[in-house]
Amino acid sequence: MWRLVIKMKNGLLQNFELMEIAALILFISFITWLSYNWKKKKPVSLLPFASEYRIILQDKVVFYKQLADKDKVIFENRLQQFLSQVKITGVHIIVEPIDRVFVAASAIIPIFAFSNWQYNNLNEVLLYPDSFNEEFKISGQNRSVLGMVGSGAMQHVMILSQASLREGFNNETNRTNTGIHEFVHLIDKTDGEVDGVPENLLDKKYLLPWINLMHKNIKEILAEESDINPYGATNKAEFFAVVSEYFFQQPHLLQSRHPELYQLLKQIFGQKEDSKHKIIVH
Ligand SMILES: [Zn+2]
Repeated sequence: MWRLVIKMKNGLLQNFELMEIAALILFISFITWLSYNWKKKKPVSLLPFASEYRIILQDKVVFYKQLADKDKVIFENRLQQFLSQVKITGVHIIVEPIDRVFVAASAIIPIFAFSNWQYNNLNEVLLYPDSFNEEFKISGQNRSVLGMVGSGAMQHVMILSQASLREGFNNETNRTNTGIHEFVHLIDKTDGEVDGVPENLLDKKYLLPWINLMHKNIKEILAEESDINPYGATNKAEFFAVVSEYFFQQPHLLQSRHPELYQLLKQIFGQKEDSKHKIIVH
């Protein structure tokens, strides 16, 4: 039998049999596990999901409608989680339940395939009545901004036009969705730069093909040979946000008109489809 001989402080030799040592290790491991689990915080219990929210999802959110029943439950939980962590504040407007559902759905749709995703870079969403200008003014000239991800003093804040947010979900034939557009900017920002390259989502081997495809498509938009919103030609960050709106609003149209783009966006957002074109997640 293996033995361990340890010289104690008092000069005596102590013998340990291997079985004794193994039992001691097991005992220490058990105590460590027990104290860890004892201290572990229970997850924050959420309020039951409001049936009013479910009706809105079922009626207005195409992405949710296409999910399998078990994924609908996951979507609802994540929506509830988002709403418990991010404050939604109306500026000169009342925030209605439909606005809360649309903001949270815009956040969850692009990252639904990533079960551990948290928006650590967002504390509050401000809802303005309609378009605003670069100085966040809601009256006067040059009010062309519909959404914005804050920086500097506005870090961790997003601004959305309530009218535009609603329009994105109320019209199923739209290729635009301001809520999804702004959350895609926020996702893009998590690697440090809003540059149209979501390095946290896309496998390295797809980075160069993605950049090349963005250049090719921006050229086509500028040559007026594309059905993609011309705003996408502003820069690569806007291109990524604009085609993501298209991807989630009209996936089948994007697939038929821009198959390469569709395939790479599927990679980016971690999605695959079953034979009935229902979106399923990994
Ligand atoms: Zn944008």
